[in-house]
Amino acid sequence: MMLRFGSIGGRAHAFFGDDRKPNAVDIERTLGLPADPMQCIGHWDELRSRIDELANSSARPVDLSELDCPVPRPSQLFAVGLNYRKHAEEMNSQTPSQPLVFAKFPSSLNSPTGTVTIVGDTCDYESEVVVVIAKGGRDIPVGEAWSHIAGLCAGQDVSDRGLQYAGAPPQFSLGKSRRGFSPIGPWVGDVREHPRRDTLAIGCSVNGEPRQNTEIHDMIFSIDKVVSFLSSIVELRSGDVIYTGSPSGVGHGMKPPKYLQPGDVIETTLEGVGTIINRCV
Ligand code: ZN
Repeated sequence: MMLRFGSIGGRAHAFFGDDRKPNAVDIERTLGLPADPMQCIGHWDELRSRIDELANSSARPVDLSELDCPVPRPSQLFAVGLNYRKHAEEMNSQTPSQPLVFAKFPSSLNSPTGTVTIVGDTCDYESEVVVVIAKGGRDIPVGEAWSHIAGLCAGQDVSDRGLQYAGAPPQFSLGKSRRGFSPIGPWVGDVREHPRRDTLAIGCSVNGEPRQNTEIHDMIFSIDKVVSFLSSIVELRSGDVIYTGSPSGVGHGMKPPKYLQPGDVIETTLEGVGTIINRCV
């Protein structure tokens, strides 16, 4: 059984059963661990070891729309750019020789079914695997990276391409940090023992039309390498969030480009973890 960790009403919950109509268990009421999701995630090893207690306690069925951002206040919100070869090609960019890291600012975080406010006519989707750190540290070896990871979320790195490419050279952080531009979820899925952990599929559709679908072994810098690389420079902390890059198929790379419009619905799925559904307004 896989631990799925998220937030309802600002309280840490575990989720069981159906992906779209899960059963939710309040972690503080069941295990006595902190109710605040940011504090609770620091107890990840205990959560994992007590999953049977969570699964056997009284749960209530919830709708995905009740879920908050599972990791609402990370101390750091990193993103990796151009981490899939075909995406670097469609963006007419070089393939990076080391992870190309930028910041998404945490005020852009959004809930799994939160609305995305479209600004201008060049906003774009990027479906991404999002890593959540359980146990921080510096200089984490590649071989130990997974023991520091709580799990993965599906995420959207919504991008205002006009702002991103307004100047030369382009910039990343602001164009990807507008209001609601960082929905993640629906929960943090603990895939440490998942048999397809390194080959899970990530993708999204817009209004039901498939746009992106790639397996994560196509990443140039794998999840364990990204975590190790970041920790060789900055201190990672419990609850930090890392976007690991978009595969190909973004609207900006199409001929002609297909940007997001108010009313569009973006559905982003990470295999084995779940789906987030974000409507553009
Ligand atoms: Zn991205």
